[in-house]
Amino acid sequence: MHDNILLECTECHERTYLTKKNKRNHPERLELKKYCPRERHVTLHRETK
Ligand SMILES: [Zn+2]
Repeated sequence: MHDNILLECTECHERTYLTKKNKRNHPERLELKKYCPRERHVTLHRETK
């Protein structure tokens, strides 16, 4: 029961990372610090949709 989700950079809105989570267990929006290749530094990335 895992759904694919896209992580979007909160600064430039580049969608770089595809990940998976169980929406039933984690209904809140996922937020992770990830490396943004466009900006070349680590930014906060948030689940889209
Ligand atoms: Zn970015």
